Amino acid sequence: MKNDATIDIDIKRAPSSKIDSIDFENLKFGHTFTDHMMTCDYEDGAWQSPKIVPYGPISLEPSAKVFHYGQAVFEGMKAFKDDSDKIWLFRPDENFKRINKSANRLAIPEFPEEHFFNALEALLKLEKDWIKKGFGNSLYIRPFVIATEPGVLASPGTTYKFMIICSPAKSYYNGEVRVKFSEKYSRAADGGVGFAKAAGNYGAQFYPTNLAKEEGYQQIIWTDANTHQFLEEAGTMNIFFRIGDTLITSPTNDRILDGITRKSLMTLAKEFNITVEERRVPVQEIINASKAGTLKEIFGTGTAAVINPISGFGYQGEKHELPKLSDSYASFFKDKLMKIQYNLAEDKFGWRHLVS
Ligand SMILES: *Cc1c(COP(=O)(O)O)cnc(C)c1O
Repeated sequence: MKNDATIDIDIKRAPSSKIDSIDFENLKFGHTFTDHMMTCDYEDGAWQSPKIVPYGPISLEPSAKVFHYGQAVFEGMKAFKDDSDKIWLFRPDENFKRINKSANRLAIPEFPEEHFFNALEALLKLEKDWIKKGFGNSLYIRPFVIATEPGVLASPGTTYKFMIICSPAKSYYNGEVRVKFSEKYSRAADGGVGFAKAAGNYGAQFYPTNLAKEEGYQQIIWTDANTHQFLEEAGTMNIFFRIGDTLITSPTNDRILDGITRKSLMTLAKEFNITVEERRVPVQEIINASKAGTLKEIFGTGTAAVINPISGFGYQGEKHELPKLSDSYASFFKDKLMKIQYNLAEDKFGWRHLVS
């Protein structure tokens, strides 16, 4: 990753900070935003200079393509502060590569690497007081791109906005998460956009998820669109199943998001000699293992929660409970990953990036 100091970022500071009005002990995830945001326009066939401006509403024409054709992609990443006030990002080059991979699929022009890192680091330095010290505290970072061109012709826009907004976050106990294995609805199809963080992937999940909520589940684990026989991933998390002492997770493909938490966990698993089988996961195998008592854990992986243990699941009207383990892989890997993120453990794989 490059840090080209010759690119100047134009900064317009907020007249005052709202930080003193924020209750950092009781943050609702993704609800509070910091004082500033990054914005960069694509015009005349090129990305212009990034700007940092006070956080606030933006103005778009009602005909802007993003509203009609969903040309929008995003990322989710976090910044952490260690005990000596250093600010760290976790594998940010992976987020950068992925937002351009998503952009490509949605016919959005790729964003330049220097702009991304210069603007992000400038923004984080400006908002450093919003990143609280302490294990579990972080700043959630949401980069996104939208098509801004007015006009309802169904074609890719010629103007875009790349923006970064930031929200302080705490690590929460998520409560008991019960999931439903999808029997009817699908998240993604072969040849589609499932691998991309495309806005429409999420909007399309709300309705089936609401139905699952009425049945007492918090989330859905999506199955393959063709047969609904194989478990793929959750709405915002990749999924691991532990049978005996082996972890199983679906391989990534054009239906599944290539999660950074997922691949980091797989690297750590190798280091600790925990077997991870990357292969298709038949629903029936999980049901059988649950009945035989060999299914020990299911957990999701993703930037927001890092690792989210699942306490039970439902399939074809039957409810299955998972055992409560004191030595779960979920808590083992969560601790290992977070200690690297917070600069409390050796960074063997070069995952930490210092914001300097
Ligand atoms: C973002 C996301 C994930 C998790 O990716 P991370 O890089 O680990 O945060 C998994 N699945 C979906 C559908 C996602 O959108």
